[in-house]
Amino acid sequence: MEASVEKFVYDFEEGNRDLKDLLGGKGANLAEMTNLGLPVPPGFTITTDACREFLKTGRPPEGMDPQVGEHLAGLEAKMGRRLGDQHDPLLVSVRSGAKFSMPGMMETVLNVGLTDRSVDGLAAQAGGDERFAWDSYRRLIQMFGKTVCDVPGEEFEHALDDAKHAAKTKDDLGLDAAALKALVRTYKEIFHEHTGRDFPQDPREQLDLAVSAVFRSWNADRAVLYRRQERIPTDLGTAVNVVAMVFGNLGADSGTGVAFTRDPATGEPGVYGDYLANAQGEDVVAGIRNTIPLQELADKDQKSYDELLKIMAKLEEHYRDLCDIEFTIERGKLWMLQTRVGKRTAAAAFVIATQLVDEGVIDLDEALRRVNGAQLAQLMFPTFDLSGGPNGEPEQLTRGVGASPGAAVGKAVFDAKHAVAMAKEGEQVILVRRETNPDDLPGMIAAQGILTSRGGKTSHAAVVARGMGKTCVCGADDLDVNLHKGQFTVDGHVVSEGDVISVDGTTGRVYLGEVPVQPSPVVQYFEGTLDAEADPLVSAVHRVLTHADGSRRLRVRTNADTGEDAARARRFGAQGIGLCRTEHMFLGERRSLVERLILARTAEDRDAALEELLPLQRADFVELFREMRDLPVTVRLIDPPLHEFLPPLEDLAVKVAVAEERGQDPGHDKDLLDAVRRMHEENPMLGLRGVRLGLVIPGLFAMQVRAIVEAAAQVDGAHPEIMVPLVGAVQELETIRAEAEKIIGEHDVDVKIGTMIEVPRAALTAGDIAQAADFFSFGTNDLTQMGWGFSRDDVEGAFFWRYLELGIFGVSPFESIDRDGVGRLVRIAVDEGRAARPELHFGVCGEHGGDPESVHFFHEVGLDYVSCSPFRVPVARLEAGRAAVAEQPTSDTR
Ligand code: PEP
Ligand code: MG
Repeated sequence: MEASVEKFVYDFEEGNRDLKDLLGGKGANLAEMTNLGLPVPPGFTITTDACREFLKTGRPPEGMDPQVGEHLAGLEAKMGRRLGDQHDPLLVSVRSGAKFSMPGMMETVLNVGLTDRSVDGLAAQAGGDERFAWDSYRRLIQMFGKTVCDVPGEEFEHALDDAKHAAKTKDDLGLDAAALKALVRTYKEIFHEHTGRDFPQDPREQLDLAVSAVFRSWNADRAVLYRRQERIPTDLGTAVNVVAMVFGNLGADSGTGVAFTRDPATGEPGVYGDYLANAQGEDVVAGIRNTIPLQELADKDQKSYDELLKIMAKLEEHYRDLCDIEFTIERGKLWMLQTRVGKRTAAAAFVIATQLVDEGVIDLDEALRRVNGAQLAQLMFPTFDLSGGPNGEPEQLTRGVGASPGAAVGKAVFDAKHAVAMAKEGEQVILVRRETNPDDLPGMIAAQGILTSRGGKTSHAAVVARGMGKTCVCGADDLDVNLHKGQFTVDGHVVSEGDVISVDGTTGRVYLGEVPVQPSPVVQYFEGTLDAEADPLVSAVHRVLTHADGSRRLRVRTNADTGEDAARARRFGAQGIGLCRTEHMFLGERRSLVERLILARTAEDRDAALEELLPLQRADFVELFREMRDLPVTVRLIDPPLHEFLPPLEDLAVKVAVAEERGQDPGHDKDLLDAVRRMHEENPMLGLRGVRLGLVIPGLFAMQVRAIVEAAAQVDGAHPEIMVPLVGAVQELETIRAEAEKIIGEHDVDVKIGTMIEVPRAALTAGDIAQAADFFSFGTNDLTQMGWGFSRDDVEGAFFWRYLELGIFGVSPFESIDRDGVGRLVRIAVDEGRAARPELHFGVCGEHGGDPESVHFFHEVGLDYVSCSPFRVPVARLEAGRAAVAEQPTSDTR
């Protein structure tokens, strides 16, 4: 081969397990096993580079064909047989294998090399077993026809059923050689009918077509969907493994099986697996016949069984992890067809990691690397038991965005007030709305779960629900919600107020009726109601998390606005509050005071309203400071536009019109209506909010600062930090700071003053802003909104699906930080802020603070803490620990 030609094909002897990017998981591990001296049938791997080229141009890349020829010749020499030879044929399997396992999503073709000529040669090889040879041939035509040439699979299945019917048998094994020979004829006719050509009789052509089909299967619909679900990048491509065939269907002394080196559900060491005698791998997957437990193989073939156990022990020792294995026994000879570090449940991941520590196989750092925050999050939610029980499987009504995980059951209610009233009566309710707004908060608190037909993962409903750890599905846009009638319709079903529904915030699924729920022992442990040694899972979580806490540099705070949330977050391990959104303290009965503030005609009126708000706010802060005694509490001054606290324009307009129509004086409503009209903004997110409010409405921020300072003076161990939202210029911050310092100076308290960095201009002028700030906290929700120009309430439901489909991003930038763009703004602000003021403290309080991937980014850029909703605190602790002990990404269990 010329030095300039890229290498597209690797013999198994040439690869190793670290080459997954190039050879895919299956190819890399076959190479590893070959080099370990395990019995792997010889073969070679065509690289993912070749696949990517193929997918770009529709043709194999220049140089690939001759390399396949060379490696095929090498394989033929090793086996002493030629592909498709008339007398003594070599047959090969052509198997997909991407970097990340995508089980069953892509294609495989077995028995390549069988033709009208070589079928007799195969029978001779098999000691004259004609039945086996013709069965293998019909399998090739079936798989090749379906996979390579898009012949509808049912056509073959119907023909097979007909043949069985004619032979009066239910089992494939009931078909004799003559019946299978006839079936091959029928299959060839089906093939011809659908493709307009004869089944290819040139073995190399079969091989090339099969390789191309496997490449193409990277973009099969189900593979695309699976990748989106599992967040696997779209551009990796698959490798193709060409492997000498070994046969598990050569009689009773042959068979095929799968095995795990320990129980993938619980982590218990032992022999776990299934075996099917006289069969090929696809028979196991298709569930054609019942498998037997692997242990029973010992009775059938002790020698192979013992060898398999030895190999499994060797693999576990070598990979230092649970491995799963596919194997075949051909006439008493064991062959390894695949191994990989096995997929496992979230619970088993924790249990296995700590078991391996106890066995001295790995250390705690490695155990920490082998679990992740998504797994811990999964373990924290109550789950639905979908096994069905006596009532059968629950009926799924629709699926929306799983916005806040959990499993909630209750009566559908369409109005926040009804929700509160029914909850007071002891009813469990699900609040169903088109979307939620601050008015719905009491209903959201009262409900078990929230379901909306609009909005994405950063919509009001989603953010608030996550903060409360409450189950929420949003953006279920098939739902036709009719608030006036108190019902929604979906897919022909009408669900009325009072009908029971079940909402799964993890999967986004909505069910009709009550689905049984099981609580999470891990949450009970965090809450302190279950002992750390209560069960193996809880103890494993405890050990790994304790190690994470000892390893991490990032501190973890929480976003909390109430004493109750603060207390829970503290139990969950929070080291302070990183964001208290004070606007939530202006709802309920206090709205009338906000109305008075807005409608004030004189400074006296305004001051009177603020004066009444002051003690209420002070009491809020006292409660928070008490719960977070000795820990920092960052209180953000009010952020949303004030008109959010007024009733909706339409409601007021109707009320006023009705009153005027009746000749009555609309009074207060008219004043409110005028105010709402006056304050209307086309883009409220870009309008009079954040620091701008503080600069425009005299006394508002001052009242909040006073409440904070006076509360701090009352509570021992209070560490308040005042945070100014939406700052874009240092002058804004300086003005507010000067006003705040005057009030702070009247008391003997130490209060830090800092700013959110959530406007791109703030990030870009961070060096200046640092001069007036003691800390920066990145508001990555707004920074993403303004960095991308994406309205955070609208875009996710509206068109993100298309962006995800096109691979513009693999995951919503509102969920996981966009490292290259928004992340760059964060980096600039950290670097320039720190250069200007080395003692400056940095945190993040946007939704990204609790997102596993993003936590690693914040560790890398050198923040001091992340802040997230109480339920994500343990996840952030774990991921901050993982970030601190990270080497190269190690987990290939995805
Ligand atoms: C943010 O913008 O990231 C933030 C935390 O503030 P809010 O979500 O309240 O706008
Ligand atoms: Mg913000």
